[in-house]
Amino acid sequence: MKETRAKYWRKSLNLSEFKIPKGKIHILKDRCKGCGFCVEYCPNNVLELSEKFNAKGYHPPKIVNENDCVNCGLCEMVCPDFAIWCTLDKEVCLES
Ligand code: SF4
Ligand code: SF4
Repeated sequence: MKETRAKYWRKSLNLSEFKIPKGKIHILKDRCKGCGFCVEYCPNNVLELSEKFNAKGYHPPKIVNENDCVNCGLCEMVCPDFAIWCTLDKEVCLES
Protein backbone atom coordinates (compact mmCIF):
# COMPACT_ATOMS: atom_id res chain seq x y z
CA MET A 1 0.00 0.00 0.00
CA LYS A 2 1.29 3.44 -0.90
CA GLU A 3 2.39 5.38 2.14
CA THR A 4 0.86 8.79 2.56
CA ARG A 5 1.76 11.63 4.87
CA ALA A 6 -1.72 13.07 4.72
CA LYS A 7 -2.41 12.16 8.33
CA TYR A 8 0.25 14.67 9.39
CA TRP A 9 -1.28 17.52 7.44
CA ARG A 10 -3.25 19.99 9.43
CA LYS A 11 -5.85 22.45 8.37
CA SER A 12 -5.00 26.09 8.22
CA LEU A 13 -6.68 28.06 10.97
CA ASN A 14 -8.01 30.61 8.50
CA LEU A 15 -9.30 28.06 5.98
CA SER A 16 -12.79 29.44 6.20
CA GLU A 17 -11.55 32.75 4.77
CA PHE A 18 -10.77 31.13 1.42
CA LYS A 19 -13.56 30.85 -1.10
CA ILE A 20 -13.80 28.91 -4.35
CA PRO A 21 -15.49 30.90 -7.11
CA LYS A 22 -18.21 29.13 -9.05
CA GLY A 23 -18.88 30.30 -12.58
CA LYS A 24 -21.91 30.57 -14.78
CA ILE A 25 -21.07 29.89 -18.41
CA HIS A 26 -22.68 31.71 -21.31
CA ILE A 27 -22.40 30.43 -24.88
CA LEU A 28 -23.53 32.12 -28.09
CA LYS A 29 -23.85 28.88 -30.02
CA ASP A 30 -24.41 30.41 -33.44
CA ARG A 31 -21.28 32.55 -33.16
CA CYS A 32 -19.07 29.52 -32.48
CA LYS A 33 -16.95 27.95 -35.21
CA GLY A 34 -16.26 24.72 -33.36
CA CYS A 35 -12.50 25.15 -32.96
CA GLY A 36 -12.59 23.37 -29.58
CA PHE A 37 -10.11 25.75 -27.88
CA CYS A 38 -12.47 26.34 -24.95
CA VAL A 39 -12.91 22.60 -24.46
CA GLU A 40 -9.18 21.94 -24.69
CA TYR A 41 -8.05 24.70 -22.34
CA CYS A 42 -10.68 24.40 -19.63
CA PRO A 43 -8.72 23.11 -16.62
CA ASN A 44 -11.72 21.34 -15.10
CA ASN A 45 -13.21 19.61 -18.15
CA VAL A 46 -16.40 21.58 -17.86
CA LEU A 47 -17.06 21.62 -21.60
CA GLU A 48 -17.40 19.19 -24.49
CA LEU A 49 -18.18 19.77 -28.13
CA SER A 50 -21.84 19.09 -28.78
CA GLU A 51 -23.03 16.50 -31.29
CA LYS A 52 -25.52 19.09 -32.54
CA PHE A 53 -24.81 21.64 -35.26
CA ASN A 54 -25.24 25.37 -34.95
CA ALA A 55 -26.62 27.64 -37.69
CA LYS A 56 -23.20 27.76 -39.38
CA GLY A 57 -22.81 23.97 -39.39
CA TYR A 58 -20.26 23.76 -36.57
CA HIS A 59 -20.36 21.85 -33.30
CA PRO A 60 -20.52 24.39 -30.46
CA PRO A 61 -19.46 23.51 -26.91
CA LYS A 62 -21.91 22.16 -24.40
CA ILE A 63 -21.64 22.27 -20.63
CA VAL A 64 -21.11 18.90 -18.99
CA ASN A 65 -19.86 19.79 -15.49
CA GLU A 66 -21.07 23.26 -14.61
CA ASN A 67 -20.47 22.65 -10.90
CA ASP A 68 -16.74 22.33 -11.59
CA CYS A 69 -16.43 25.72 -13.28
CA VAL A 70 -14.22 28.00 -11.17
CA ASN A 71 -14.78 31.15 -13.23
CA CYS A 72 -11.14 31.20 -14.34
CA GLY A 73 -12.07 32.83 -17.65
CA LEU A 74 -9.72 30.71 -19.78
CA CYS A 75 -12.48 29.65 -22.15
CA GLU A 76 -13.33 33.29 -22.69
CA MET A 77 -9.69 34.27 -23.25
CA VAL A 78 -8.97 31.63 -25.88
CA CYS A 79 -12.20 31.88 -27.85
CA PRO A 80 -11.36 33.63 -31.13
CA ASP A 81 -15.00 34.47 -31.80
CA PHE A 82 -16.13 35.88 -28.44
CA ALA A 83 -18.73 33.13 -28.32
CA ILE A 84 -18.23 32.02 -24.73
CA TRP A 85 -17.74 33.81 -21.42
CA CYS A 86 -18.18 33.18 -17.76
CA THR A 87 -19.56 35.23 -14.89
CA LEU A 88 -19.27 34.73 -11.16
CA ASP A 89 -22.27 32.82 -9.86
CA LYS A 90 -21.31 32.45 -6.20
CA GLU A 91 -18.38 31.75 -3.93
CA VAL A 92 -18.31 28.68 -1.75
CA CYS A 93 -16.23 28.11 1.35
CA LEU A 94 -13.17 25.91 0.87
CA GLU A 95 -14.22 23.66 3.72
CA SER A 96 -17.71 22.95 2.32
S1 SF4 B 1 -14.32 29.68 -16.73
FE1 SF4 B 1 -12.58 28.25 -16.55
S2 SF4 B 1 -13.41 26.47 -15.46
FE2 SF4 B 1 -15.16 27.65 -16.23
S3 SF4 B 1 -15.67 26.71 -18.22
FE3 SF4 B 1 -14.29 28.45 -18.60
S4 SF4 B 1 -12.23 27.53 -18.65
FE4 SF4 B 1 -13.61 26.06 -17.66
S1 SF4 C 1 -13.35 28.59 -28.41
FE1 SF4 C 1 -15.14 29.75 -29.11
S2 SF4 C 1 -15.29 29.30 -31.31
FE2 SF4 C 1 -13.95 27.73 -30.39
S3 SF4 C 1 -15.34 26.01 -29.85
FE3 SF4 C 1 -15.19 27.34 -28.04
S4 SF4 C 1 -16.94 28.76 -28.20
FE4 SF4 C 1 -16.62 27.85 -30.23
